[in-house]
Amino acid sequence: MKRILSLVLSLAGTYCLTSAQEQAPKKLSGADERFKADILVVVAHPDDEGAVTPYLARAIYDLHKRVAVVYGTHGDSGGNNYGREHAAGLGDIREMEARESCARMGIKNVWFLDGKDTASQNVLNSLANWHHGASLERLVELVRLTRPDVIITSLPGAFIGENHGDHQAAGVLATEAFDLAGNPVMFPSQIAGASEHREIYLDNLQAWQVKKIYYWADANDDRQFFGMGPSYSIREVSPAQKKPYWRIALDAATTHLTQYPADIERIQKMSDAEAEKMMSDPDAAWWTDPETLIFGKSYNVSKATDDVFANLEGEPNRCPELSGKPPRPPTATTIKLGGPWGFYQSFREAHCLGSLRLADPPEIAVMAGAQVYVPLTIAHAGNKALKLRLRVEAPKGWKVTSGEGEFELPAEATSEMRVEVETPALTGSELKGNGVQEIIVHTLVDGVSAGDTKLRVLLRAHGLPQ
Ligand SMILES: [Zn+2]
Repeated sequence: MKRILSLVLSLAGTYCLTSAQEQAPKKLSGADERFKADILVVVAHPDDEGAVTPYLARAIYDLHKRVAVVYGTHGDSGGNNYGREHAAGLGDIREMEARESCARMGIKNVWFLDGKDTASQNVLNSLANWHHGASLERLVELVRLTRPDVIITSLPGAFIGENHGDHQAAGVLATEAFDLAGNPVMFPSQIAGASEHREIYLDNLQAWQVKKIYYWADANDDRQFFGMGPSYSIREVSPAQKKPYWRIALDAATTHLTQYPADIERIQKMSDAEAEKMMSDPDAAWWTDPETLIFGKSYNVSKATDDVFANLEGEPNRCPELSGKPPRPPTATTIKLGGPWGFYQSFREAHCLGSLRLADPPEIAVMAGAQVYVPLTIAHAGNKALKLRLRVEAPKGWKVTSGEGEFELPAEATSEMRVEVETPALTGSELKGNGVQEIIVHTLVDGVSAGDTKLRVLLRAHGLPQ
């Protein structure tokens, strides 16, 4: 009986083992490949993607790269030049126009952050209006979802141009996301690991290091960035599409009817020869040829002008990620431009973007008649109280309304001040031939010169508030 029982048990054991051996291993789900991108484009507004669509046409159709796009806002401010809808209704329409524009280029993976349009050239206004922390967390999540090799975004910097604070904010967030998405301690709830089937809080994404980041500039003179990254002809004919890259980009842009319907109508009526002629005229063309992608940085060693997809692997860079060093206490009293200009100086150091071009001296364009403010940051040697005298030299006809004279500064590490200058309300014809002028703030600290702070200012007929 005992023998029979042990035989039964041993047979049962054999059966269990055989059954387990025969069962196929369960497949663990990997990342969802439908959302893998080679390039993630991060822009502020619907239609901003158009800044890089000639290059994207090349990447998508001829290099077979996958592209995803993140917009910062729905573009719900500004005028509706096509229909009657405004505000959130306009934002809903512009979301669709942007999605259709992307779809025409074969881009299906498109997301929108919850930022709001900000009518300002000050990136700090835009970051506040976009709820910087929440937008960054969401963008890091989208980087971890799309796992791009390359990010292309707008330049985080202040230049005479449209210089839209929202464009700059997209570049700031994208740069921060580049540095944070690969770090598992940043936004750890996104990468908390396997969880129960009906998990509602934890994403189960993975940390992801983007390899390169490139920018496009919001400056009037984008030729100043030539040689600062790879350049691509927009006139070259796509072998796959048998059209020049600019044509593919132009056709994609014609969905943005609420923004420039008259231009779109005009373009749609043009013959191929007329369109070609428009694109050959540097004053009328929508893109500068060649198109330069400004090199920000790469995780592995790569030269600025190398191709976008060159050197994605290899020796890691010395300073690829956020350095995060707090500033050292100043040993000498110094005065420099604060506000967005001061931020960008620290931003470049913190994010290893030392070679990225800054306007030097700093510059801005404002509408004639508007007030210009010059933010100042005074670093106190030894955190001591200071006596300061500010004298402002402004162009003829401009009026210093605030910030001049003698000041007693409290004992602290840094003090923030501002000088305000009213500009003359010149007419369009009076502005013709008007060049860039300069505001200079001369500073005396305890009776000794602490140097001059300069801001170059261009007056023009229209422009966003400073
Ligand atoms: Zn824009």
